[in-house]
Amino acid sequence: MTKSNVSRASRTKVGGKALLEPCARCGIAPDPRGRPFPITFELPDVYSEIPEELLDAWGEDPFLAIKTIGFFVRVILPVKLTDGYSVDFGTWLEVHSEDFRTTWQTWNMPEYADLSIEGYVANAIEPWKKLPHTLVRATVRDVDQVPYLTSCNDERMSKILGDTWPHDEVLTPYAHLLKADPPAER
Ligand SMILES: [Zn+2]
Repeated sequence: MTKSNVSRASRTKVGGKALLEPCARCGIAPDPRGRPFPITFELPDVYSEIPEELLDAWGEDPFLAIKTIGFFVRVILPVKLTDGYSVDFGTWLEVHSEDFRTTWQTWNMPEYADLSIEGYVANAIEPWKKLPHTLVRATVRDVDQVPYLTSCNDERMSKILGDTWPHDEVLTPYAHLLKADPPAER
C-alpha cells in the first residue's frame, strides 16, 4: 500500500460532503461535486469609474442601464481548467439597446431559449485583466440560467472560452474566495 492510499483512506466529512484534498500548489480544493466555482462580479467595472454625482443608473441584476454609458446584461463566462477544476465567471456584457430590449422582453418567455446577443465583456477578469475589446456572442445553455458567452472571432478571447487553462493561474487571484476554511493551526 502506498502512502497516498493510506491518506486517502481517511476521509473527513464537512456538511455531508467528502472534503477533497486541496491542491498542493495553490491550496484550493476542487468542488466536491465537480461543479464550476461561481465567481461573480457584482457590477460592470465602469460603474465604479463614474463620479457618483454623474452616475444615473437604472435596473438591477441581471439588467443594468447607465445613462450616457450603455446597457448591460449579466452573463456567464465559463472557463475550463486543468485537474478537474472549472470556473463560471459571472460578468456583464455591454450590449446594443436593441439586444438589451430583446433580452428583457424574452427573459421569462419560451423565446429565451433561442436568445443570441452580442456585446463587450464589461469586467477586467484575472488572470487576463482587461479582456480584448471585441464582440462576444452569448447564447442560452439552460433557460434557468443567464446567457453564457459562447463564441468570439477574436483569437485571444476564443482561447479564453475554448482552451483548458492551468487551474492555479486562473484561480489563485481568487483564492480568498475559494478556500473554504483557514487551516486549523492558524
Ligand atoms: Zn492548484
